[in-house]
Amino acid sequence: MKTYLFLLLCLLPGLVALAQPTTEALKDCGTPTPTQPIVIPQAVFESYQQKAALPICVRVVITIFANTDGSNVATTETNVLRQFQNMADQYAPHNICFLLQDIRQVNNTDLNDQDADTEGAELLPFRVANCLNIFVHNALPGYNGNAYDIPNYNGYISMNANAIESTSNISTTGHEVGHVFGLYHTHSKGFGNERVARSGGCKNCLDAGDLICDTPADPNQDVDLNDQDYLADFTNASCVYSGTRQDNCSTPVTYAPSTRNMMAYGRRACRNQFTTDQGTRLRVFLDKPQFDYLIAPENNSIPVANVTRNSGSYLDVARDQVTVGLSNTFVVSGSANQQFISKRIVIKPGTRFTPTGSGRTTTVLSTYCD
Ligand SMILES: [Zn+2]
Repeated sequence: MKTYLFLLLCLLPGLVALAQPTTEALKDCGTPTPTQPIVIPQAVFESYQQKAALPICVRVVITIFANTDGSNVATTETNVLRQFQNMADQYAPHNICFLLQDIRQVNNTDLNDQDADTEGAELLPFRVANCLNIFVHNALPGYNGNAYDIPNYNGYISMNANAIESTSNISTTGHEVGHVFGLYHTHSKGFGNERVARSGGCKNCLDAGDLICDTPADPNQDVDLNDQDYLADFTNASCVYSGTRQDNCSTPVTYAPSTRNMMAYGRRACRNQFTTDQGTRLRVFLDKPQFDYLIAPENNSIPVANVTRNSGSYLDVARDQVTVGLSNTFVVSGSANQQFISKRIVIKPGTRFTPTGSGRTTTVLSTYCD
């Protein structure tokens, strides 16, 4: 009987896991948990709570890898754009938006098959400057995505093309970007197991788990018997949790986790929410000087003096409005390649576009910031 029970306990989670799509069987990311937690002092945290309505705009370039001979392109622009929109929707409630500067293809067989555990540094020279870089690889063995560090001041993530192409996994891109900007997993236990209580002697949410108190304690702090994710295994297609695990309080309390949280290992199709406190923590990191380089200005008026651009490539962006030629003469001519990206682009008198040959001026309306 004992043997039978043991087998049943081992097999049940396995059977549940087998019912999940392949991409969900992968660990979401191999992003290592820092040995020293970054705790935000309460006074600082509260000061950023007051700034929740201020818009933040992150500049992004997405790189789709292919093999060196151009074959084996990791995925399509259509798939990339669908996941980018998913991410934009997930961050919008927190007034964090994205300005997509470019989707480009880079042909490199080595980087098209990325070992996230050992090859993270190989991507550094392939980053486009002044952006959050999202790299999409044909193969990222073992992972849906990887952010390499929390936070990642180098500003890049790797995505498995399978996760980008999945229509049931709507959340890995936003999850990895959450790591880049300082969010831990809700089941993180590098700082100790988080308990359910939010008051009294068992409360430890400020210095255990993900260090955030409005994300409920997560039963996934320990994996299943078969090394699968408990939260995903006990969340149904309607995103309802049915697990029975209890925390380690002296009077144990049954977990009541969020199945929607972006930083949990729940069902990928269910994940679509950051909590208010997660939004605040993101905002704290996005405001750090180390991330200044990837923040787009709200408005951008160019040029600041009379300017002629006759060759080379130029990119001028803003979250809300780029104003061209406000009070100075601005000429783009010859082979110069000029691009403007913003929600609004206003061309004033004094501006002249006279491209020749391969020269061109393009305006792209950014639709990812409300
Ligand atoms: Zn993660």
